[in-house]
Amino acid sequence: MIRRLGDLAGAMRRYRGLTSVGTPREELLALQRRRLLQTARHAAAASPIYRELYRGIELAEDLDVRALPVVTKAMLMERFDEWVTDRRLRRTEVEAHLERVRSDELYLGEYRCMPTGGTTGRKGIFVYDRDEWRRCLTAFLRWSELTGVRPRFGHRMRIATVGATSPLHMTARFAMSVDLGVYSLRQIDARTPIGEIVAALDEHRPEQLVAYPSMASLLAIEQLEGRLRISPRVVCTSSEVRTEEMTANIRAAWAVDPFDLYGTTESLYAGDCEHHQGMHVFEDLGLMEVLDEHDEPVPDGVIGAKLLITSFIKRTQPVLRYEISDMVARTTAPCPCGRPLARMVSLEGRSDDVLHMRGADGRMIAVHPLTLRSPMAAVRELRQYKIVHDGDGVHVLVVLRDAVAAQETQRRIDATLRARLADAGVSDARLEVTIVAELPREQGHSAKFKLIESRIGRDFR
Ligand SMILES: [Zn+2]
Repeated sequence: MIRRLGDLAGAMRRYRGLTSVGTPREELLALQRRRLLQTARHAAAASPIYRELYRGIELAEDLDVRALPVVTKAMLMERFDEWVTDRRLRRTEVEAHLERVRSDELYLGEYRCMPTGGTTGRKGIFVYDRDEWRRCLTAFLRWSELTGVRPRFGHRMRIATVGATSPLHMTARFAMSVDLGVYSLRQIDARTPIGEIVAALDEHRPEQLVAYPSMASLLAIEQLEGRLRISPRVVCTSSEVRTEEMTANIRAAWAVDPFDLYGTTESLYAGDCEHHQGMHVFEDLGLMEVLDEHDEPVPDGVIGAKLLITSFIKRTQPVLRYEISDMVARTTAPCPCGRPLARMVSLEGRSDDVLHMRGADGRMIAVHPLTLRSPMAAVRELRQYKIVHDGDGVHVLVVLRDAVAAQETQRRIDATLRARLADAGVSDARLEVTIVAELPREQGHSAKFKLIESRIGRDFR
C-alpha cells in the first residue's frame, strides 16, 4: 500500500512536467530530440545488444532517428539476457516468476513483469523497474485527464472495468497500482457470464465504465433492452477495434461519446480528447513512426505498412525503433483542444485477422477484415457476431437481438457475405451462418475479442 502510494505520488509529480494544452509543437519536438538522444546513448552504453547494433553510429546532438536500425520482438526476445541492462535479469527466471505471479508482486523486489501475446504468436516479456512504472503511470494520469476524470483525494469515484483482471495484463496492473482508496474500483473479468456482469454493474453503479469495445457494446444493448440500469458519465474502450455500430450502441444507451484508449506493453500510449477526432499520441513519452513497406515515412492521414515505436520510458529493456504490427495513420494537424500531440486517426488490424482465401484464378487472395465487418455492421438484428475461418471454410456465428425474424436474418447474412466475398474475388466460398445463444470469449489472460479470426495459419502452416 505504501509502495503503491509512493508510485502514484511519484507519477503525479512527473505528470505535472508533461506537455499539455498550449505547449507549442516545436517545444515538444525539441524535447523529443533530447529524450531520443538520451535513450539511444543509454541503450548503447548499458544493453549489449544495442551496443552491437549501434557500433559505428555517431550518437551526436543532431541524431536522426532514421540512422538507427529497426528491431523486432523476435530478435530481442531471442537474446533477452543481452537486451536487458540489469545483469541479474535472466529470461528463464523471469518466465518462472510469470508462472507464479498472482497479484501486484515485484520480481527481485524491483520489477513488474508482464508478457505480451501479440498477433505473431511470439511471446514477449516486458519488465519495469519502479521508476519506469511511475513513468507509465503518468500515461494513466493523462488518460484520466483526457477523459475529464482527475484523481482527487476526497471523492471516491466509482469505476468499473470489464476486461482482463490478471496481473499479467498491463491495464489490470495499472488499476491495481492506483487502487488506493482514491477510487472505488470494481474489476470484472470479461469472461464472466453476461448476467453476472450486469448484476455486478447494477450493484456498483459506476460513474466511469472501462471495457473492451465489444463488451461495452454488448452492455449497451443490455441497457437498451432494460436489463442493465447504470448511468456512467464516462465510457472508455481500449485494446480492440471499435466499430461504428459499437459506438452507436454506446451513444444510444448512455448518451455519451465514448473515449478510446491505446496502450502497448512496449509502452506507446494514446487516447482521444473531448473532441474525439483521433487519439493523441503521448509523444513526450515516446516516438511513433509510421512507415511504408520500404521504410519511408508516409504522409499525414495515410495508413502505413508498419509502426515503429521508441520508448522514452523503458530503460531496463531499451525499446528503440521497435516494430509492432498495428497499421495506423497519424496527423499532426492542430486539434481544437490545443494539445500539440499528434493524433492516430486510423487504426487497422488491431485485433482482426486478414483472411487468406482462394480466388477464381486459383491464387490466394487476402480478404481484409473490413470486407466482412462492414456488411455485418449494417445488420441491426445482431447482438454480437464472430467470424472464424478454418480448414472447413468460413463459420459465421451470430447472436440475435430479442424478437427478430431469425431465419430471414440468417438467410440475408448468408447472401450478403457471399456477395461481398465474390466481389473481393473469392470463388465459391464455403460459408455457413449459425445462430448461437452466446459467444465464448477467447482464452488467455487478456480475453480480447476478435470479430474476425483466421485459424488457417495456426493449423495449416
Ligand atoms: Zn484534442
